[in-house]
Amino acid sequence: MQGKITKGIAGFYYVHIPHSGMYECKAKGIFRKEKIKPLVGDTVTIEVLDEVEKLGNITDISERDNQLIRPPVVNVEQALLIFALVKPEPNFHLLERILIQYQSQALPVIICFNKADLATTKEMDDIREIYQDCGCELLFVSVKKEIGTDQLVALLSGKTTVVAGPSGVGKSSLINLLQKNVCMQTGSISVKAERGKHTTRHSELIPINETTYIMDTPGFGSVEPPEIEKEELAGYYNEFKAYEPNCRFGGCAHANEPDCAVKAAVEDGKINRIRYENYLQLYHEIKERRRY
Ligand code: GDP
Ligand code: ZN
Repeated sequence: MQGKITKGIAGFYYVHIPHSGMYECKAKGIFRKEKIKPLVGDTVTIEVLDEVEKLGNITDISERDNQLIRPPVVNVEQALLIFALVKPEPNFHLLERILIQYQSQALPVIICFNKADLATTKEMDDIREIYQDCGCELLFVSVKKEIGTDQLVALLSGKTTVVAGPSGVGKSSLINLLQKNVCMQTGSISVKAERGKHTTRHSELIPINETTYIMDTPGFGSVEPPEIEKEELAGYYNEFKAYEPNCRFGGCAHANEPDCAVKAAVEDGKINRIRYENYLQLYHEIKERRRY
């Protein structure tokens, strides 16, 4: 049987097998000999040792599509960044650090602003203006009022998605909502009970249905600047692309250089100023970090 490792604790791997449930497995000695460590997200083959107790052995690991550094998880297909429109106010600088960290690992990113029920149209429009040209899917939802959540569910469906955002923005509420829909469909509460048992800070994949998984990443209060070179940073700002060829200097950092077309576009209101200021701040942070 094939399934996905949802978490690993003290030598045990919890493998979700579609239509069969969760099995507690050990990895056979062969992996230790080959120095392969099974990771959360791995697609594995198991042999069932006990169908009642749901115990098994991992006998094979399928080839990995990718491997994230933080969190340590494999075969992730996309990232979902959740921030609140208000309560708490979004920290755009934090958002962009996380955004670029995922994009630098070649993950498509969905930016989702929650608590639309508490925000004014103007507050939403202001944020749309900042991110509408960033090249990511941009969503406004209310998890509480279930506004816009169908679209979000559709984007997550059938995929493995890593979810990140600061605390208080509604991540748990969203995961509960996703599970509620599934539980209503299947009449099963096993997955939810499973989640409640562990309040640890392990990375864990949460099965939403037979083909949909969510990886909750705890503790995103602060994040290091993305692990890229400062020269690469502008490449993550989609809005700059149209103007960059017109900068006087090739490799212009769009900071203090004369005749910078990106800066001119900011002055003309063609590039959002908040995006540009976040770029500059990140640029300097990456530059400082490289000194040590
Ligand atoms: P987490 O820390 O990101 O997991 O956030 P929670 O899911 O615990 O939510 C934090 C608080 O925001 C809770 O009191 C939720 O009830 C509330 N909340 C979540 N989603 C919404 C929403 O769409 N609208 C409103 N008004 N409150 C929400
Ligand atoms: Zn420039």
